[in-house]
Amino acid sequence: MRENRTFTGRFFTSALCAAALALISCAGKQRMAVSDAVAPDTIALYEVTQDTITQDTAVQEAVAAETVEPAPKYVFLFIGDGMGFSHIAAAEAYLAASTGSIGNVSLSFTEFPTMGMATTYSANSYITCSSAAGTALSTGVKTDNNRLNVTPEGETLRSIAYDLQDAGYRIGIATSVSIDHATPAAFFASDTSRGSYYNIAAQLAPSGFDFFAGSGFLQPVKEVEGSEENIYAQIQQAGYAVVRTPEELEQAPASSKMVMVQEEEHDNAALVIAVNRKNTDGHGWTLADFTRTGIDRLTDSAGFFFMVEGGQIDWMAHNNDAVALIYEVIDFSKAIELAIEFYKKHPDETLIVVTADHETGGLALGYYTIPYELHPTPEVMHTQTGRTPLNTDEEKLIKALPVVRELSGQSGFSWTTAAHTGGAVPVFAIGAGSERFRGKMDNTDIPKRIRELMIRE
Ligand SMILES: [Zn+2]
Repeated sequence: MRENRTFTGRFFTSALCAAALALISCAGKQRMAVSDAVAPDTIALYEVTQDTITQDTAVQEAVAAETVEPAPKYVFLFIGDGMGFSHIAAAEAYLAASTGSIGNVSLSFTEFPTMGMATTYSANSYITCSSAAGTALSTGVKTDNNRLNVTPEGETLRSIAYDLQDAGYRIGIATSVSIDHATPAAFFASDTSRGSYYNIAAQLAPSGFDFFAGSGFLQPVKEVEGSEENIYAQIQQAGYAVVRTPEELEQAPASSKMVMVQEEEHDNAALVIAVNRKNTDGHGWTLADFTRTGIDRLTDSAGFFFMVEGGQIDWMAHNNDAVALIYEVIDFSKAIELAIEFYKKHPDETLIVVTADHETGGLALGYYTIPYELHPTPEVMHTQTGRTPLNTDEEKLIKALPVVRELSGQSGFSWTTAAHTGGAVPVFAIGAGSERFRGKMDNTDIPKRIRELMIRE
């Protein structure tokens, strides 16, 4: 049996606090009866001595801190599609190398005080696709690859965004790819197939969510019984302001709900990738533009839930293009900086969670022909890595891959696949309730924890 003096700060672990909570919540004479239920070692700590009285006060304070969990009112969920640990390490190594040093220059979110990791497998595969992972992250339920908020048995699932809307929060969804793509779609739509783009987009207006932003829609028009149905018409009929330019943004009524997309001359599948955007104007919106506008439109005394996806981290990793990938990760980090600025103004009411839906590419820092070498400098990477154009057809992409992989290898980066991998992904959190995201979790835990924090039964 331990002596009383062994009771030190290290016992302020959640396990002991849970036991202490049981003791303290049943104060006075009931205490011993409750203590019967706890482990013998623990009981010894609560034998009545002067020390115990002092300790009880300390435990009470600790328990109070644990039980009065902060309730975040403004919640950001950033999803770096395909962003594994190595993608972050590659970007941080590149930033350090850009200043001439070997090491890591932190991205905006990697020094958040809470860090965890999330497993990503789907219901039918260790290696998830973005719609099964999106379903897990939006509903807390696993499904088969290719399904979107529909279980393997065919039951429709509900995104937490609808629960949060019912609870009075404003809802925002933004992405650097199209709004009907798997990850953003998982927060407002459901379908047995992630590829039902028109059907997914048609669920936007009925959602009544407050803010949407992305490159556009992959299938905004559909022929139905000889006439054309148009997503944009539906959105406008439902009272959304459709905003394509900074001028339109300025003129949009302050109170209207909003859908922000690119101008028609731009690609409706994705924003211009960050690596192609430097030193050029007329590139259209960026993920940071969407994040800034979303914060502006959603901020209200009611609070909000804002999901922001860096969708092309995944695409550049599918392309096995190291430099383009690094630029996308840095671009994602810049969007997160805006949430951090918001957090600094509302530190007690804001929660920021940053994670990924899966890893893409099997990226590693190190290449077999040049062991113990990594050259993540702009000079080397811009000349030695290729940038496969977006939307290259699959045949061309497959032919280009060995070349791009070899170019990545010359900088010391290697890829094991042009698809997704099955490992865990990082989780970073800061702000009210961020402690919930410490340690190992499953991707399905993330929306459950957000819902528990935002909706107090
Ligand atoms: Zn992917």
